Amino acid sequence: MITAAPLPGETAHRFTRKGHEIQVSVIEVDGGPAYGHVLVFGQPGDECLVRIHSRCLYGDALRSDDCDCGPELDKALDLIQAAGAGVLVYLEQEGRGAGLVAKARGYRYSELEGTDTFTSYEALGYPPDARTYHHAATSLKKLGLKSILLLTNNPDKADEIRSAGFAVTVVPLGTRPLSARAAAYLEAKRRRRKHWIPTDAAPWAPDNWDSDAMVTAPAGRLRRALRALTDSKRRFAVRRRMAAVAVPEQRQDRAPESVPVSSDNAEYLAVEKVSSTVLA
Ligand SMILES: [Zn+2]
Repeated sequence: MITAAPLPGETAHRFTRKGHEIQVSVIEVDGGPAYGHVLVFGQPGDECLVRIHSRCLYGDALRSDDCDCGPELDKALDLIQAAGAGVLVYLEQEGRGAGLVAKARGYRYSELEGTDTFTSYEALGYPPDARTYHHAATSLKKLGLKSILLLTNNPDKADEIRSAGFAVTVVPLGTRPLSARAAAYLEAKRRRRKHWIPTDAAPWAPDNWDSDAMVTAPAGRLRRALRALTDSKRRFAVRRRMAAVAVPEQRQDRAPESVPVSSDNAEYLAVEKVSSTVLA
């Protein structure tokens, strides 16, 4: 792996999570801390794992079951730790950029009207998604990165980072919805914003995998990334997981309401088993 530009050593320290230690350095996002922070784990170079995550107080800190933000962040950190290096760009864009009050109003509107979150935002006069990844892109450039493995299900995010000049390989993040509301939210993101929801996390969501816009990671790139993993056991677990999301099984016959969000679902159990071995 090519080593990126020297990191600001004055913030480098040990970071321990799930019993595993990694070095982290902290940098303010380009534009200032009001936009967010960059956490640089290990010594990332080109082809490293990158998660660009917008703040969600409910999901990230309070571990709400109502959205997939917490599990997405958790899984991204699992993979970065397993790889031994990577970057988390944490952006202050609560409520898809509209703020926490807007998010709360949106939840209330959805409860009263039965609408999805994007419709609720529009009804309340908020843009459905006001987030921007411009500051994240310029921050990543300052790290000396040119090509990244982007941990995301969001095609808009991938497009914006790619148009900023990066070679982007998308690695979708499969997460298990923690509630019926979270499952509905995933479905709304898939349907309204064309998010790539891996079939192992959302078996009701097959059609976007056929889309021309779907960027599957070229096998060579993933292989190079996986070679960077030092522990063969972890390498095996991550390869199995990436293979699962890169070559999804088509399930056109399933409707959203026909798939129970339940720990009895064998697919979920399989995904959980693989993810739990990543850091084992
Ligand atoms: Zn959330």
